[in-house]
Amino acid sequence: MNTHLSTAEGGVAAAMQLIGGASVEARAGRRIEVVCPSDGLPFASIPRSGDEDVDAAVRAARQAFDTGPWSRMTAAERGRCLTRLGLLVERHADELAALESRDTGKPARQGRADVAATMRYYEFYGGAADKIHGDTIPFLDGYTALTLREPHGVVAGIIPWNYPLQILSRVAGAALAMGNTLVVKPAEDASLTAIRIAELALEAGFPPGVFNVITGYGREAGAALSAHPGVDYVTFTGSPLTGTAIQQAAAVNNRGVTMELGGKSPQIVFADADIEAALPVLVNAITQNGGQTCSAGSRVLVERPVYEKVAAALAARFSKLVAGPHDADLDLGPLISAKQKERVAGMVAAAEEAGAAVLARGSIHPDAPASGYYFAPVLFGSVDPGMAVAQQEVFGPVLALFPFDDEADAVRLANGTEFGLVAGVWTKDGARQHRVAKKVRAGQVFVNGYGAGGGIELPFGGFRKSGHGREKGFEALYDMSATKTVVFNHG
Ligand code: NAP
Ligand code: MG
Repeated sequence: MNTHLSTAEGGVAAAMQLIGGASVEARAGRRIEVVCPSDGLPFASIPRSGDEDVDAAVRAARQAFDTGPWSRMTAAERGRCLTRLGLLVERHADELAALESRDTGKPARQGRADVAATMRYYEFYGGAADKIHGDTIPFLDGYTALTLREPHGVVAGIIPWNYPLQILSRVAGAALAMGNTLVVKPAEDASLTAIRIAELALEAGFPPGVFNVITGYGREAGAALSAHPGVDYVTFTGSPLTGTAIQQAAAVNNRGVTMELGGKSPQIVFADADIEAALPVLVNAITQNGGQTCSAGSRVLVERPVYEKVAAALAARFSKLVAGPHDADLDLGPLISAKQKERVAGMVAAAEEAGAAVLARGSIHPDAPASGYYFAPVLFGSVDPGMAVAQQEVFGPVLALFPFDDEADAVRLANGTEFGLVAGVWTKDGARQHRVAKKVRAGQVFVNGYGAGGGIELPFGGFRKSGHGREKGFEALYDMSATKTVVFNHG
């Protein structure tokens, strides 16, 4: 079965999950409707898996790890499988981009950008697979000590709906390069491209059972997967609350975890910055993907002498932003779901009630279907840094703007949330660039820029509530493996 939804435009395609190389229904035969956020209408369906399906997927992954041809492949052969998968992604780029946009509502160009990043993940990890190695360690006389980097075994990946292709592929790229096998549970709101990638993985030569996808609800299939004793390592991207639940489930089996839990990332604009260069980046960092980005730059801190100027320029840009259907490719698409729209609207209303000033709002295109989940972007000015809208992840196109007095104040405010994922620093002062980059608590700091456009090569992850462990780049290969020390006593 192929999820090739471009052949089913307008119709309802029944996508299947992939277990042990076979396209299968959920054992109980239940399904979940797949809705396009641009019009709120169903256009496909996915299996609704439960415990038994999860068990079958974990067993398939276990068997592939323990006894399958995968376990005998060299690192170079695993790398070749990944490289071929990248080439297949490139060949199917239009189909994947269209499917991703339709399933998530993201503008068409964002769908294409996500596919380009996806291709790069397989290219990067395809090339990296045979370039990671252990060490020899000087030890006692008469001994030789060395380390081997070994896969964990069966890795469970629980993937969110905001960048389904990219986040799936950063997990799969690193996990498979190290020789693990994989069971992925994409979000129920955006599972279609994960299924398609797993199909392409079979075509690329990954043996059956190496790359499994089960679909369903987080509280059912996701919970069963994170608690399954046959899983050796869990990697999760999503909300801190669900991250805690998954860590608790994994802790019952004492399994390792990587947690990427979002943020409240600051951009700091000093008075000497190139403000014209900063403005489009500040806007994009909170409106890309409708603000539904873990690394969204959702707080902008501006040095007081230029605060009014920056606020006015941002307001002018925000008031011109337009949200509309994914295929209209406007500034923003709809949000992912009615639930998410409600959540964002609730946080905006609460901020207004708490006294935050709305400096500008964007608009929704008049032709956008009323049944879609559109939310016009909002710029809040002179926000009190203690307010919920300045402390909590909104995960929508909502920017909190506030002034600061000096460098120390900027660092204090930037670090003044429970999160620590990404930060931006805008200044021409070279010494200050270094000082602030060191003092800001974030897994990535960008100086005179923000966001990595995928940033496949760049290690990524959080401090504190933003999570732990690192993904992307070479660093992810360490998370996706364990060191074994071997000591020879040869006298
Ligand atoms: P979520 O609950 O964290 O969902 C993320 C993933 O976890 C999905 O695949 C979800 O599956 C799964 N999941 C949910 N409950 C689970 C459980 N008990 N055990 C195992 N897996 C489980 O996020 P959400 O409810 O969709 O969104 C709520 C808020 O989370 C957003 O407003 C945003 O602030 C934040 N968020 C952050 C990121 C990020 O990239 N940092 C991504 C998404 C959401 P189902 O979706 O199928 O239930
Ligand atoms: Mg959808």
